Amino acid sequence: MIFTETRGSDGTHDNRVSFSSALLSPIASFGGIYSPESMPPIDAAFLRRHLQSSYKELSLALLQHLGIDIDTKVLSSALDLYDKFDDAADPVPVVRLDEHLFVSELYHGPTRAFKDMALQPFGLILSELAQQREQQYLILTATSGDTGPAALETFRNRPNIRVACLYPDGGTSDVQRLQMVTEDAPNLKVIGIHGNFDDAQSALKSLLSSPNFNRRLEQLGISLSAANSVNFGRIIFQMLYQFHCYLALVRQRAIEPGDEVVLHIPSGNFGNALGAYYAHRMGLPIAKIVIASNANNVLTEWINSGCYDLSKRDLIATTSPAMDILKSSNVERVLFDLFGPARNRELMQQLDVDGRYQLDQHEHQQITNIFAADFCTDEEGEQYIRQVFEQGYLVDPHTATCFKTCRSARFKDEVNIIYSTAEWTKFAAVVDNAINANQPDSDQAALQSVSTTAGIEVPEVIARLFDKPIAHPDIIEKQAIESEILKFLESGN
Ligand SMILES: *Cc1c(COP(=O)(O)O)cnc(C)c1O
Repeated sequence: MIFTETRGSDGTHDNRVSFSSALLSPIASFGGIYSPESMPPIDAAFLRRHLQSSYKELSLALLQHLGIDIDTKVLSSALDLYDKFDDAADPVPVVRLDEHLFVSELYHGPTRAFKDMALQPFGLILSELAQQREQQYLILTATSGDTGPAALETFRNRPNIRVACLYPDGGTSDVQRLQMVTEDAPNLKVIGIHGNFDDAQSALKSLLSSPNFNRRLEQLGISLSAANSVNFGRIIFQMLYQFHCYLALVRQRAIEPGDEVVLHIPSGNFGNALGAYYAHRMGLPIAKIVIASNANNVLTEWINSGCYDLSKRDLIATTSPAMDILKSSNVERVLFDLFGPARNRELMQQLDVDGRYQLDQHEHQQITNIFAADFCTDEEGEQYIRQVFEQGYLVDPHTATCFKTCRSARFKDEVNIIYSTAEWTKFAAVVDNAINANQPDSDQAALQSVSTTAGIEVPEVIARLFDKPIAHPDIIEKQAIESEILKFLESGN
């Protein structure tokens, strides 16, 4: 598999690179990223052959089919990390709600959100590559609450990798904050900042462009990589469960091989949806990929009108914070794939300069051939959490947005799969409010209350967070971030 630059080349980066290079250095010319040149198709025989394969067997076969430059031994150890999920034999359970509706539970990993699906194997592979090349890497991440815990968990004590993670103090749930500040390892640094997620993200951006910071990194012999979904090393692992879910439905006799399904994906940075898009490109029978958003409904507008417009929007804080995103980084991979690097670069420039771009009618048609979209407000989301709970199933506020899209009349005769991206335990206060009409004063109280009402035990990894010592107490001003991170790097762990 060859990767190329989504916005064409200005000569500052290699135009065609291998998977491992794209993983180590994800940023390309003109501010673009690396994306596959093409996707090798799968055929019906491949699906038939893997009907009874385990998640790991299927994943290894797909990765080998994609042809990436990572040793099979390394890939196998990376996939072995799924053994840590709740059920090693079935890391991604696909649950039947009724004959038209299935939920693919992507949150059974160590940090209880779908980020583990990709970050678990990604962490091992990045560390292996860094060791092979005898290089030191720094992962800098700003998190709204799910990426941070999953990145810290996967890189903890991994050789040749250090992680500095910024989170907005007060901007995450208690559980998310504790997942980060209790991660104690010499190669991890977690910093709370005064401000919201946008402040954390812009602090990170100014750090990346600080001459002093970059000079010091060079002197220390440390390179930067990224663990967010601009890194294709994450996207590739988000392609695998698409095939798994499809085959799970065949095994459950909900569909015949070859039947099409409709996917409903709670979306933010569009990484999960992009995995589905590539699976569709490879030939998996997907009728539509439905993008569910919250009140930050820029993707809904884009898909329904062809206009991506940031110019009149401010970010709204919602009860599904992992979807509080306006500029979805992975949309450009779809534009690149459909319309080529020159047109993608033009559209991305318009977005930068004017805050908006409009696809022409023919382009828009190509988008709606595969994507559909709707959004769900916080109030609607809480209603869905309550309704679905009354029918015997508990969902988190992100997953809840998909009950809006899948109940649209348009999809009522289809076989629908909702991707559940987080366990309710990460957002217990919202869930407690939805099903018990409580206003809990802490996540701990909410966990207890929901657990009692629903008769579901709080998993050990969440329950014990409240007793773990705080390893990272610091909450600082934005201006102090650079010196704080340099101090951590210079301490030479
Ligand atoms: C990250 C995240 C999302 C959004 O996924 P994208 O790949 O960024 O679109 C949705 N729900 C939860 C719970 C998440 O953690």
